[in-house]
Amino acid sequence: MIVVKTKEEIELMRESALIVSKTLGVLAKEIKPGVTTLQLDKIAEEHIRDHGAIPGFLGLYDFPNTLCMSPNQQVVHGIPNDKPLEEGDIISIDCGALKNDFYGDHAYTFAVGEIDAETEKLLQVTKESLYVGIREFKANNRVGDVGYAIQKYCEDHGYGVVRELVGHGLGKKMHEDPEMPNYGKRGRGKKFVEGMVVAIEPMINLGTHRIKQHSDGWTITTRDNKPSAHFEHDVALVDGKPELLSTFAYIYDALGIKSDEENEFRQEALVL
Ligand code: MG
Ligand code: MG
Repeated sequence: MIVVKTKEEIELMRESALIVSKTLGVLAKEIKPGVTTLQLDKIAEEHIRDHGAIPGFLGLYDFPNTLCMSPNQQVVHGIPNDKPLEEGDIISIDCGALKNDFYGDHAYTFAVGEIDAETEKLLQVTKESLYVGIREFKANNRVGDVGYAIQKYCEDHGYGVVRELVGHGLGKKMHEDPEMPNYGKRGRGKKFVEGMVVAIEPMINLGTHRIKQHSDGWTITTRDNKPSAHFEHDVALVDGKPELLSTFAYIYDALGIKSDEENEFRQEALVL
């Protein structure tokens, strides 16, 4: 069952999404060779609690930490540990926060120092595919339109689109209906309606789309051990159009990157 949100509820969800966005911005400054994912996890937990929220993943389905930390060939759901990040790694960070009974859920794949051109391209195309998908989240479109657009964009670049893990509706639960696959057929699936909020999150592999689940019950890696990227935004359907609730602006501010990629998905300018 799809739970649509009122305008007021969407504003509360924006608050939760922005706490996560700010947290990723804080982490962006700390990501460098030598730092451990457990250190980053502590920073994130403190930052979320300082904003009157609680970590959205900690304890959810018994997940042990605040952040899902998935380096290199890990796709998602990696558990923070004390192994230092190295120059040339990539690290996918997925972060959730709960405030006012509503969840934010937002992810970004970061480069650790300089990375090779092939992996850099994977990150760029995966992020572009996120916006390609968001553009299809509009009145009268359906779940399959978003999935089709993401899949086509990524497969045209020769990448593998993960099948087993999908985006989702978001609200008072972290995972609500509908499921939002990053693959699909045009015109198929549930129709989008005003007040829906979804997390759109392409998980895209440099090589095969196939994955394997590790014995810790969480970590998922690519079957061929090639790198994987993950970018996620929270998006509401407002006035028939996609409205971004989360933002990468705090990350870009921390890294000195100029970008106008989010402007078309925001009715009012974002003030950092
Ligand atoms: Mg997430
Ligand atoms: Mg999600």
